[in-house]
Amino acid sequence: MAAVKRTIYRALYGSRYDRVPWGQRIYVRPGERLAREVQWRLRLRRAELLTLAEYRERTDLGEIEEFVVCHLCGDSRQQPLFRPTGPKGRWSYQVVRCPGCGFLYRNPNIRPERLGDLYANGYSAFLTGKYAADRRRRYRLTMDSFHPVFAQGGGRRLLDFGCGAGLFLELAEQRGFDAAGVDLSPDSVAEANRRLARARAYHGTPEDVPEIAVGGFDVITLWSVLAHLPRPLDDFRRFRSLLAPGGVLMILTVNAASLQLKAHGSAWNGFTKNHLMFYSAETMPTLLRRTGFAGVAFTPFYGDTVEAGTTKLAEPLQRRLRRKVEASDGGNMLRALAFADDEAIDRWGGGLKVRRLPKYEG
Ligand SMILES: [Zn+2]
Repeated sequence: MAAVKRTIYRALYGSRYDRVPWGQRIYVRPGERLAREVQWRLRLRRAELLTLAEYRERTDLGEIEEFVVCHLCGDSRQQPLFRPTGPKGRWSYQVVRCPGCGFLYRNPNIRPERLGDLYANGYSAFLTGKYAADRRRRYRLTMDSFHPVFAQGGGRRLLDFGCGAGLFLELAEQRGFDAAGVDLSPDSVAEANRRLARARAYHGTPEDVPEIAVGGFDVITLWSVLAHLPRPLDDFRRFRSLLAPGGVLMILTVNAASLQLKAHGSAWNGFTKNHLMFYSAETMPTLLRRTGFAGVAFTPFYGDTVEAGTTKLAEPLQRRLRRKVEASDGGNMLRALAFADDEAIDRWGGGLKVRRLPKYEG
């Protein structure tokens, strides 16, 4: 099968795109987007649709796991789509799609009280090791994409939820934010506080820390945290209540509408060991609307090297990639700015395509 595919690609494209990395190739090869969308439709059409009872019957449940229904719309029907598996089969889980709203989530899910089991020792080393430079770059590029919010802190209060070893808090304090963070890993928090000058990191949840529980934050940031949250509605209600009038919530997470997911299926790089839920620009507004946010804006993600200007991709192909990302999936990462209220939209929505969210009655 792989050999047949290679022959087809060779006939279609010659060797023109051989040196373009996979993540970019999908946006620059003519016809690729259409092919992936067709592939996706076929996959959805072929996928079984099961009741929760049927699904439970045929699915193994691990010791720290529980069966769940769609977190966003409550639909209990299950469309099993993917089974991501780690190197040498060290971990594996099932991803289902909600036929009601299209949300992708891990089912069985991890029981919230056992979440700590996923974060073995060495997680803080992972957060500060050789990936630190890449992470700092991604923070800067994402802040730039929501420019006025992050340009100058001016003493505004910022909460970084899931702050890890404090790499982002460090940038936030340099830009003049009055910054604080929380994280569930005590090692990471200790490391963060060694790094920081004025900002503080705290161990625990926001309710555990009086300085944070009082709320009144102008900005809350979720850097690659959302996909890890087993009870997103509860968490987002809390974020909404911690925001001051005019406040915003910034979210970076993997994009479940990505063409790369449609192309690579279970092997997609967004299906990492500890990810539980996978949002898109279609499904995230439901979460925000249900938890009291007034609007949301997404900015396209072109890839770190393209945005930083270090890509080897030729200029015309870069332009093609940007056009394709804007016209199709918005990129492999999802970047969102959620507005607490109308005041926040007036203050920070300029230059962004803001989608207003109707009030949730329910
Ligand atoms: Zn749903």
